[in-house]
Amino acid sequence: MKKYDYLIVGAGFAGSVLAERLASQLNKKVLIIDKRNHVGGNCYDYYDKAGVLIQKYGAHLFHTKYKEVFDYLSQFTKWRRYEHRVKACVDKKIYDLPINLNTINKFFGKDLNSKECSNYLNKIRVKIKKPKDSEEQVVSKVGWDIYKRFFEKYTLKQWEIHPRDLEPEVTARIPIRFNKDDRYFGDKYQFMSKNGFTELFRKILGHKNITVKLQTSYKKIKDRVKFDKLIFTGCIDEFFNYKFGQLPYRSLKFKWKTYNKPFYQEYTVINFPNDYKYTKSVEIKHATGQKISKTTVGQEFPAASGEPYYPIPQSKNKKLYEKYAGLSNELKDVYFVGRLGEYKYLNMDQVIYNSLKLFNKLSRK
Ligand SMILES: Cc1cc2nc3c(=O)[nH]c(=O)nc-3n(C[C@H](O)[C@H](O)[C@H](O)COP(=O)(O)OP(=O)(O)OC[C@H]3O[C@@H](n4cnc5c(N)ncnc54)[C@H](O)[C@@H]3O)c2cc1C
Repeated sequence: MKKYDYLIVGAGFAGSVLAERLASQLNKKVLIIDKRNHVGGNCYDYYDKAGVLIQKYGAHLFHTKYKEVFDYLSQFTKWRRYEHRVKACVDKKIYDLPINLNTINKFFGKDLNSKECSNYLNKIRVKIKKPKDSEEQVVSKVGWDIYKRFFEKYTLKQWEIHPRDLEPEVTARIPIRFNKDDRYFGDKYQFMSKNGFTELFRKILGHKNITVKLQTSYKKIKDRVKFDKLIFTGCIDEFFNYKFGQLPYRSLKFKWKTYNKPFYQEYTVINFPNDYKYTKSVEIKHATGQKISKTTVGQEFPAASGEPYYPIPQSKNKKLYEKYAGLSNELKDVYFVGRLGEYKYLNMDQVIYNSLKLFNKLSRK
């Protein structure tokens, strides 16, 4: 039986970054496994039959305010500058998202400046001091009209839960801008990995001390290899055999269509809050910058079952997660990290940041 210093479960960013750091900085022998047939976790991209680079698990755009995360990844990839923009299609008109001065002026047929816009929203917003749910959170910022056309049905489609039954934090993160900045993210570093994410992962995992085994689940391998320490980036409830019950996730299904023309839609992402069963139409080629005569567009359909994508943001689920986190604290030499290990929606950069932090902790031991 081969012996490793570390077994890492999951070859997404959480697992891969830790594998690379442990192998290259501490000379540890690492076995990293994934039950899927590819590395990269949910950031995995590949060339479809038409030769278009697409992202299998939905649009992934890299952005961060953390210099250390950007510098870390820069060792493994060249970058393509890309600032993400998202539009919403409401009543057949295209609006900037997040809501900004352009959105408000176009929606209400006005020509306000920043100050006037702020005053106007102050007039139409519902005065609620401490919003107790997502609906209150939005109407307390922008009033009922924008809430109804941009948020209510989108949230229902996305979660199959009414905004009144979702934590206020779900919509609290959505900014309202009083200027015309139409970039989706405000972070300093906004780039796409020049040749896609999968190639980046192959470079991260290319160290001689790292062994990668795909189509291998933790259950299947745990008694067949020897290891000193375990890093688990899969679902924390699965690790504990769902002892307290299952942590719920929202999933997505995709419908892909290839077109015989360089571009199909004007923007990378168009949201459809009120029409259709899908929430968005994504043409990632705008972001990857691939030069090819065809294009592929994906429609995202929220789903109750399938791959675990989004933890469902309700307090009962947070409490359930905390019970599992309590159990995990009692284990020695077992570490949970990543969006499934922490049952938290985390962007790529946050996951990398957390993994680098865990590495620092491990290297001090
Ligand atoms: C639709 C969508 C869009 C997103 N867009 C963005 C974006 O634009 N920008 C951004 O910064 N972030 C985005 N994210 C977040 C991003 O996907 C995550 O931050 C990142 O993938 C987390 O990496 P991870 O390693 O924690 O998890 P994952 O990437 O999910 O990797 C976990 C891996 O573990 C494997 N695994 C699980 N259990 C087991 C087991 N028992 N045995 C073996 N293997 C196992 C899984 O197969 C998976 O490959 C998006 C997320 C979603 C869902």
